[in-house]
Amino acid sequence: MRIAVIGAGAMGSLFGARLALAGEPVALIDVNAAHVAAIRAEGLQLHDDHGTRVARPEAGLAADFADPFDLVLLFTKGRHSVAAMTASRHLVGPDTRVLTLQNGLGAAERILSVLPDARVAVGMTDWPADFVGPGRVSSHGAGKVRLWRHDGAADKGLDAVAATLDAAGLACRSDPAVMVAIWEKVLFNAVMNPVAALTRQTVGGMAAHPDMPALAEAILDEGFAVARAERVAIDETRVRAAIAFAWREHGPHRPSMLIDVLAGRPTEIDSIAGALADRGRAHGLPLPVLETLCRLVRMIANDAPGHPRRA
Ligand code: NAD
Repeated sequence: MRIAVIGAGAMGSLFGARLALAGEPVALIDVNAAHVAAIRAEGLQLHDDHGTRVARPEAGLAADFADPFDLVLLFTKGRHSVAAMTASRHLVGPDTRVLTLQNGLGAAERILSVLPDARVAVGMTDWPADFVGPGRVSSHGAGKVRLWRHDGAADKGLDAVAATLDAAGLACRSDPAVMVAIWEKVLFNAVMNPVAALTRQTVGGMAAHPDMPALAEAILDEGFAVARAERVAIDETRVRAAIAFAWREHGPHRPSMLIDVLAGRPTEIDSIAGALADRGRAHGLPLPVLETLCRLVRMIANDAPGHPRRA
């Protein structure tokens, strides 16, 4: 399976390295010139629970590659999806599967806005990854991948994609209920990410604060109401359990929205809390907590007026 990973930051590099190490022909496509140059010169170093290994994927800009791939795996941040897919149109043919495992809601719609006829699959992954520097990525602990066609229909071709990711050690399977997994992760992230970004606290720092349980419940109350209005059969107990697990086990972790704010980068607020607020508003739900979190994060993040936040 010829695979292009578009957006080879933390997650794209983790997936690209694992796939290349499993013997798949992989092209990493990224606009980070230093990262591309390092991969070309020295390979891609993956530091994980198996130690340090060097993968040898191809790397470049989309324009450096010519023919359609069998699988295009989109791993930019959500706001860069449209630009990245626009530059990569020529890599998507009639049989190409385009898979997004990006966090948040609306990932498939952003791809389809550029390539309306593409065979798009959505998914959820809880593998963690950190971009260490040019040519280097790290990941620790376990994770999994769940995927399905974006419109809920069956697609036999996706079974081969799932098998390929699984064989690369990414614990992947097809799951017709993938939207539930995506929404549950959005609800988890709506609690963790904006609060971390605003308070500059680690997961453990948030968990230790006496105000956090009530704040988390207020966010979840609104998020669950949006999920119910959208008829997504999320399991509220499972979402609460995932949050409690993170409070207990992931104390030193800094959620990605905090890292983005500290680095002066735009955040994914619009596809997480913002996407919940947008959908809830369309149902006439009052969402004062989600809307306030969104406004505050946009004010502290690198979201200048007029920034194409939903690009
Ligand atoms: P990242 O910022 O590390 O990587 C994004 C990459 O996209 C960067 O290397 C950037 O240069 C590249 N990019 C930007 N514009 C581009 C363009 N036009 N063309 C090609 N490449 C472009 O982000 P990440 O942490 O890997 O996250 C990617 C997605 O995965 C996000 O939606 C995130 O929420 C989700 N996710 C992250 C983790 C994690 O642990 N890091 C876990 C699960 C899901």
